[in-house]
Amino acid sequence: MDNCLFCKIIEGKIPSAKVYEDDKVYAFRDINPQAPVHVLLVPKKHYANVCECAREDADLAGYMLKKCADIAESEGLKNGFRLITNNGPDACQSVQHMHLHILGGEQLADRMG
Ligand code: 5GP
Ligand code: ZN
Repeated sequence: MDNCLFCKIIEGKIPSAKVYEDDKVYAFRDINPQAPVHVLLVPKKHYANVCECAREDADLAGYMLKKCADIAESEGLKNGFRLITNNGPDACQSVQHMHLHILGGEQLADRMG
């Protein structure tokens, strides 16, 4: 997808701090972390948001949840973590390539929104 920031990161055209990669997904550290651990997990195929991804490839969406569990474990988030995906303008989605935020490493705020 032309002009998509996360497609460029996946292709290596924009540098990122890689956490995990396989043929389906790429995970990297958020440039503006909101917690001691803040990893973004994206599908390599461009989907605008989680709904588009889940509707077009439910297996991939499920696979991404499994990868979140693996990344949380490898990042040492034994005491829990928060999984967020902002979807559309009301949720302030700023990058239109589906991504899951994996947040943890400290006690997170009780309020989510
Ligand atoms: P959203 O607001 O769409 O849910 O999340 C987009 C996330 O991408 C934000 O948390 C933001 O900090 C992160 N981000 C934006 N630009 C870059 C970048 O160039 N590199 C990395 N690693 N993260 C970015
Ligand atoms: Zn993209």
